[in-house]
Amino acid sequence: MDSKGARMASGCLVSAAEAAERGLAYINPRPCECEWCGRALKPLGAVLNGRVAWVSHEECGCEASLAAAAEEEARKAEEHERAGVSRLLAAGIPKRFLDAPIRVQACERYLLEFGDNPERGLYIHGGVGTGKTELASALARRFVEAGYRTRLTTTIGMLERIRETYGNEASSLEACKLFGKCDVLILDDLGKENSSAWSVMTLFHLVNMRYEEMLPTIVTSQYDPSRLSARIGRGGERETAESVASRIVGMSMTVRLLGTDRRRI
Ligand SMILES: [Zn+2]
Repeated sequence: MDSKGARMASGCLVSAAEAAERGLAYINPRPCECEWCGRALKPLGAVLNGRVAWVSHEECGCEASLAAAAEEEARKAEEHERAGVSRLLAAGIPKRFLDAPIRVQACERYLLEFGDNPERGLYIHGGVGTGKTELASALARRFVEAGYRTRLTTTIGMLERIRETYGNEASSLEACKLFGKCDVLILDDLGKENSSAWSVMTLFHLVNMRYEEMLPTIVTSQYDPSRLSARIGRGGERETAESVASRIVGMSMTVRLLGTDRRRI
């Protein structure tokens, strides 16, 4: 048992003297000493069915043992932090934007009100360099930390991932579920993908799946809402593209990013 475990459990552990006093059965404990200062430490035992099992020892409390315990705590905290970071990376947040702040008030408000309106998405649009990916990452982090199964992906990345599964029904279904059924999908740079009948139909399938499941989708794009449909459907599939765009925009609060100010209009 580690020292923290011993601390937590010491309330119900007994020393040899206590065990003798209470008439408990035990074999004599092996002597133990502080690994830092060498002081002899009282062994502590757990009582089960009237017998004592020696599982721990008292804490020494010398400077070196306290320092070692503090170091151990710090190591665990760091491990915890690393686990948190790997959760963020696993959700698709780029390393560069792990600590991105939410600089847009409208998005803070969106998060605050999210509980009242959990199927509402966001449509964030603005030119190149307005911080769309940074903002998408910051939003993703907040959702991950709040315990939502969150997936951040570029639209191109998502379509590639699904295309790779083409011909394999099981993994195709899995990919669709990954994006279609996660609690929060954040789709970066919609409209940048090539437009083909396949890409538009796939987007429709996903967006519609989320619409029917009442799951929120956050989208970033260079294109303002009125141009989205034409952009997605520039390869032909205009009607389906229209459905994709109206589902997305219709379910979302629109946020426009301006230059480096990143303010909402
Ligand atoms: Zn000691």
